[in-house]
Order: sequence, then structure tokens, then C-alpha cells
Amino acid sequence: ARLVVGLTGGIGSGKTTVANAFGALGATLIDTDEIARALTAPDGEAMPRIAADFGPGFITQDGAMNRSAMRARVFSDPAAKKRLEDILHPMIRTACQTALQELAGPYALLIVPLLVETGHYLPWCQRVLVVDCDEATQLQRVMQRSGLSRTEALKIIASQATREARLAAADDVIDNSGSPLALPAQVSLLHQRYITAARNL
Ligand code: ATP
Repeated sequence: ARLVVGLTGGIGSGKTTVANAFGALGATLIDTDEIARALTAPDGEAMPRIAADFGPGFITQDGAMNRSAMRARVFSDPAAKKRLEDILHPMIRTACQTALQELAGPYALLIVPLLVETGHYLPWCQRVLVVDCDEATQLQRVMQRSGLSRTEALKIIASQATREARLAAADDVIDNSGSPLALPAQVSLLHQRYITAARNL
């Protein structure tokens, strides 16, 4: 059985925290952000094309993508953003496909921050799991962790799907507005349900 559960949530909602709780129970995690980081690390598969397309100014000494330079570039230039995405997105999708083909356990959590916004991965997912958090708490966590200003954090939140739109796409919801102590019970309940659902596919 090959159940694929798409895991998403707004910035700072707690996707990584929740995914790690599933991982601790033995769930297979496929994290698109982690794949993107590996592709752009020194000797990453995307590095030859990034070097060829963007030039040495976007490569660090050790051969990784220069994240701060690239962030500044794509922020000010939508065409450059598209070029970077045209390099990375097909590679990320292929890596996810390979990981799903090699899936050993009953189900996989496919972690996609913009699952609802882009729609690219929705056809792969039998279920969508949303990590939900009220906006005030979300804003606080984003500012605390990243050191972004209130305005910058609000701008990123506004660029993503609304809480309502995300919840409307959800089959399952984990409430992470409160204490992390509220997570294990929610996570283990869903983990058991996914194992059962995979068995019945
Ligand atoms: P991003 O979209 O930026 O990758 P994310 O959705 O993966 O974020 P996490 O990295 O899991 O979210 O959590 C964001 C921040 O909030 C982290 O600093 C994390 O430690 C903290 N956090 C997560 N859940 C809670 C909680 N229930 N209570 C307090 N802090 C939390």
C-alpha cells in the first residue's frame, strides 16, 4: 500500500515540529525543503546549472548556492525567480518520486509548504494534513525565530494562502495554536489512522 499524505501549513505554523513527531513514530518523511537544500549544497545536483545560469556571484567558496545573494536576486527579479524554479522544481519532483517509489513503510508524509498554493503535489496526495495555528501566534513565532520585522513577517504570511483557504483543502488538521504538549496525542491518532487507511487502499 502506498498512502501519500501531503503535510502543509503556513510559515511558522509548526510543519517541521509536527513532521518530526510523526518521524519519531516511524513514519516516512519526504521533505521538499530538505531536498531543495541538498540540491543546492556543495556537489548538489542543481549546482552545475545554477553556476552556468547565474554565474560565480551566486556560488559560495565551498560550492553551495549563495543563499543570501540568491534571495536578494529573486526578490528583485521575477524572471530570475522563475529561472531558479525552472531548475529546482523538476529536480525536487523527481527526488520525491524516487523517494515514494522506494517507500518501505505503509505511508509517507510529503512535506510541501506551498501544497495548497501551487497545487503541483495535490494529485500525488490521497490526503491533505494541515498544521493549523491562529495568525497572532503564527506571527509571533515567525518573528521570534527568524528575527524578521513585523512588517516583513506579515508580508510573507499575506503572500501565502489564507488560513481559511488552507483549512478548506484539509482532510485532517493538527491544531498547533497551543502548547507543543498538545501534539503527541493528535499525531499518534493520525499515525494510526494513516496506517489503517494504507492497509485498506
Ligand atoms: P517554516 O514554514 O518557516 O519552515 P514550520 O511550519 O516548519 O516553519 P516550525 O519550524 O516547526 O514551523 O516551527 C516554527 C517555530 O515555532 C519554531 O521556532 C518552533 O520551535 C516554534 N514552535 C512550533 N510549535 C510550537 C508550539 N506549539 N509552541 C511554541 N513554539 C512552537
